[in-house]
Amino acid sequence: MDVIVIGAGLAGLTAARTLQRAGKRVRVLEASAVVGGRVQSRERSGFTLDAGYQVLFEAYPAVERQLDLSALDLVRIPPSAAIRLGTKEELLGDPRRDPGVIPGLLTARSLTVKDRLLFGRLAASVAVVPPHTLLTGPDEPTHAYLGRMGFSNTVLERFFAPFFGGIFLRRDLSTSARLFRYYLRMLLSGPVSLPRHGMSVLSGQLASELTSSGAITFNARALKLTPHSRGVSVTTSLGELDAPQVIVATDPPSAAQLLGEDVSRGSVSSTYLYYAVDTAPDAQFRLLLNPVGGLGNSALINNAQWLSHLLPERAPVGQHLLTVTVLGNPELDDAALDTAVRAELSVWYGPQVAALRTLAVERIAHAQYPQSPGYAAQLPGHTTRLPGVLLAGEITSMSGIQGALESGERAAAIMLGDLATMSRPRGA
Ligand SMILES: Cc1cc2nc3c(=O)[nH]c(=O)nc-3n(C[C@H](O)[C@H](O)[C@H](O)COP(=O)(O)OP(=O)(O)OC[C@H]3O[C@@H](n4cnc5c(N)ncnc54)[C@H](O)[C@@H]3O)c2cc1C
Repeated sequence: MDVIVIGAGLAGLTAARTLQRAGKRVRVLEASAVVGGRVQSRERSGFTLDAGYQVLFEAYPAVERQLDLSALDLVRIPPSAAIRLGTKEELLGDPRRDPGVIPGLLTARSLTVKDRLLFGRLAASVAVVPPHTLLTGPDEPTHAYLGRMGFSNTVLERFFAPFFGGIFLRRDLSTSARLFRYYLRMLLSGPVSLPRHGMSVLSGQLASELTSSGAITFNARALKLTPHSRGVSVTTSLGELDAPQVIVATDPPSAAQLLGEDVSRGSVSSTYLYYAVDTAPDAQFRLLLNPVGGLGNSALINNAQWLSHLLPERAPVGQHLLTVTVLGNPELDDAALDTAVRAELSVWYGPQVAALRTLAVERIAHAQYPQSPGYAAQLPGHTTRLPGVLLAGEITSMSGIQGALESGERAAAIMLGDLATMSRPRGA
């Protein structure tokens, strides 16, 4: 064996597949029983539930390189949202790709006239430069950047906070403005999609060649790394393994433990509630934003979506699936959280909330890491203090699918001496 890759998330799978394609003998060790790490799906009472609510930006440059999008059976999500104001709603979004928002854009009270003009200017400013250049240069919190541009507090609180709160998993808009501009570019320059049959289709595609060659060992947790003169010994829950080189592609907290090095940069957690119902109280298929609380977390619901309106295959025939995102990990137990979320939903849907059946409550302790202004300068590189051991995973790049894929590409490139990939800028 030439290389052991620890972790079968997007980063580990990308690194392992690249190395295997280059002729290396690869062994992937995965602690769980499935591939995908944070990108996976499961079935519950006939419903397909993703791990949390996540979407695929098709414009991610690494997605174009690593995935065959035509084989993922993708369904495009409208690049728009419905701001829920009690029982009413206001639509906002990209009018070129969702013309249904045009009347709302003209009349919405969540926007001032100036906000409408500024949206155009902001979109134009991110469209004219290569995307990766948006990640470089001086940085500031997103709220400061948008405030400096002249956006009103109302649109910050009602739209930007919950919409980008759903992406960066914090709604105070304290995330790097550089990253905000990069994600906005991704949103505007390509479709946002979901695989019809669940996000796990994505990791399944990355894993397929490795699965066929029998390169992945499941339920194998790496416990300790011991470098020696011929390579590295990996102590696992299934026994001892040896290889000349190792890539650690776990989540950042696990990588920090394995490497004995402070490569974790903290965790942002999020919580999801999945509801089933026979008759949906809402026909809205767009993302639902909860403006209550503004830039703070005083409401539980940040955003929600009737996923089965876009993807009927995610629910049994005649039933509907609602996914609710709560940011952080509330101190309420599951039953109390469910009751509190239902109370907020009843402001939108009244007594019809009683018909919702709770399918699952899911808490994800490490969904992303915080990406405050200047975060990129603090990230660990691929080399570690252990000889023969490289680090991959989103923590070396940015917390998302692009970051995970490009980190796997780069770790493999370092082993293969592939200078072109090694020198590709972050986000390109
Ligand atoms: C709820 C949620 C929503 C998100 N939304 C989006 C989104 O909309 N768009 C986007 O771009 N990104 C999103 N992300 C982020 C994105 O999913 C992650 O950044 C990316 O999947 C991380 O991939 P990774 O390979 O670096 O790590 P992981 O996916 O964490 O993979 C690590 C793997 O290592 C395994 N492992 C851990 N320890 C060990 C060990 N000791 N031995 C063996 N194996 C081990 C784990 O089981 C796991 O399979 C979201 C994430 C979450 C959780």
